[in-house]
Amino acid sequence: KNGLFFFPGKKLRMHKEKRKISETTVSPRSTSFECSNCSKDEAQSRCSRCTAVKYCSKECQKDHWVKHKTHCNEIKKKMILLEKEAAPLRNFFNKNLFKEEVGNFMRIEQTQLYCQQRFELATAFHVCGMKNNSRLALGLAVENLLDILFLNRGDYLGVRAHIPSMLFMLDEPEEAYDFLKWWQVSHQERYDYYNLDLPYCNLKGEDIFEDMSKLHLGKTHPQWLVSMYMVKYKMFQKIEKDKISYESFLLGTHPRVGEDSPIQQIGGVSVILHNIKKCFSPIDKYETIRNQTIQILKFIDSKNKYIIPGFLNYKVLLEQPNPLYVGEGGSLQDQAYGAVWFDIKHWEPVPDIFILTKELYIQIHGKVKAERDIAELPREKVSLAKVLGKAHLA
Ligand SMILES: [Zn+2]
Ligand SMILES: [Zn+2]
Repeated sequence: KNGLFFFPGKKLRMHKEKRKISETTVSPRSTSFECSNCSKDEAQSRCSRCTAVKYCSKECQKDHWVKHKTHCNEIKKKMILLEKEAAPLRNFFNKNLFKEEVGNFMRIEQTQLYCQQRFELATAFHVCGMKNNSRLALGLAVENLLDILFLNRGDYLGVRAHIPSMLFMLDEPEEAYDFLKWWQVSHQERYDYYNLDLPYCNLKGEDIFEDMSKLHLGKTHPQWLVSMYMVKYKMFQKIEKDKISYESFLLGTHPRVGEDSPIQQIGGVSVILHNIKKCFSPIDKYETIRNQTIQILKFIDSKNKYIIPGFLNYKVLLEQPNPLYVGEGGSLQDQAYGAVWFDIKHWEPVPDIFILTKELYIQIHGKVKAERDIAELPREKVSLAKVLGKAHLA
């Protein structure tokens, strides 16, 4: 493609600022965090061992230690191991690979252990973030994964698949969308990971409401579609909140209900009201994002009918024996098991996603079929095994 990177119809925006890549220690994504023990805002003191949790007081830190200890130790351990793997790369035949081979790690075999170790550190941060109620830890996990990607553009470890779910937990759907879109487009465009002159993971501020037809989601791996679904869901949730406050704003403009509201005092000027409605109405966005969520759900469903019922009835699905292989080429049931297992930990803390997903699934299939699928589909594998078992005995 002559070294250019096109999105159908327009060139992807280039971003001049390059990512500053760290070797072992990343900086937090933001500065204010909740206390991991009492959830109070503005926690100031950071666990000095793992740097992944914050507390509002020494007392909270003490109280929380029972819950934090395992994760703290795990992170500390991985940090030490990572430093050990990083050291030789700083002086590799008189070359500092972190300075001179950024993006190129997939070509240098000796960087493999380092990349794996860093992935393990990110995983330890991820687990700590989920179990210790720490946005700080989740953010550190994301930053570590992004560094691995920028060092190792080819991403043979598949770290990219983990990033959208973490951004979902961090309530950052816009950034997750930029990330997903970049990979979606680069995949279609047969992006050359070995050409280091090309911009990499450089989308920012893309329009999450834009028409999805150009993304060719129908050709996408179901796991990736689940990530896209989660990202759109997060946006949907945000817009829904906006819609509710907008509707109460509209009540304030109502001549009778909103009689005493300050809005009513400017209400005489209907032109102003009209324009306010036009500029701030989240109603269109609400409809758009809702339709997109349904559309993605339909794509997932057409690729693998076990995935959505699997999420909606995950306890039944996951109580089955762990399949040996959940990747492409395996049975659909096993792939669904893999998809649900991968993301259910991110769905569980967000109970509303189950409610909306069920509502939309019913909208797609009708109540009777939808409810039967949710109750029965995830079991199909078990019953099939039983039938086969019986046949075998007979
Ligand atoms: Zn506290
Ligand atoms: Zn700690």
